[in-house]
Amino acid sequence: MDKMLDLRDLLQHEIDDLYSAEEQIIEALPKMAEKATNPALRQALNEHLQVTRLQKKRLDSVKKLLESENKEPGFLEKIFGSTKCKGTEGLIKEGEKMMGENMEDAVRDAAIIASAQKIEHYEISGYGTARAYAMQLGLAEVEELLTATLNEEYEADDSLTALAFFDVNLQAEGGADDER
Ligand code: FE
Ligand code: FE
Ligand code: ZN
Repeated sequence: MDKMLDLRDLLQHEIDDLYSAEEQIIEALPKMAEKATNPALRQALNEHLQVTRLQKKRLDSVKKLLESENKEPGFLEKIFGSTKCKGTEGLIKEGEKMMGENMEDAVRDAAIIASAQKIEHYEISGYGTARAYAMQLGLAEVEELLTATLNEEYEADDSLTALAFFDVNLQAEGGADDER
């Protein structure tokens, strides 16, 4: 990437990183849902997949808004391909390794939630930062789009917390005796 000169450049970078994150999450969520046993967990993951597809579209709109007032097009980025979010890549890999361990179904469900929430927290951090930059730069439309997604990530995180607390963690505590 060219030298980043200002907050606007850093925002562009953060958006590219989030775009890659959403792409990777769209790939990962169906695999996580498939490994889940608890039907409510399965449903939550599949619902967040639908939401994530919309979030990727929202980032397309953000990119267009940023391009429309671009000083210079990032042609180097276009030639050499885009950013890959290493953070998300690592979190997904770690989750896959965990899901591959030999464990009771309910324990695996708890592990899937742990892994999904690490991803949500990473996204919340990224979107929170990007939104703050947009706010600082007076990019109201961008700020609005990023806020919508940020709120969805918070909702996904909260519903996973509830699912763990009131259902999945209880099942996992019971272990093999509680086999469904
Ligand atoms: Fe997302
Ligand atoms: Fe990243
Ligand atoms: Zn998410």
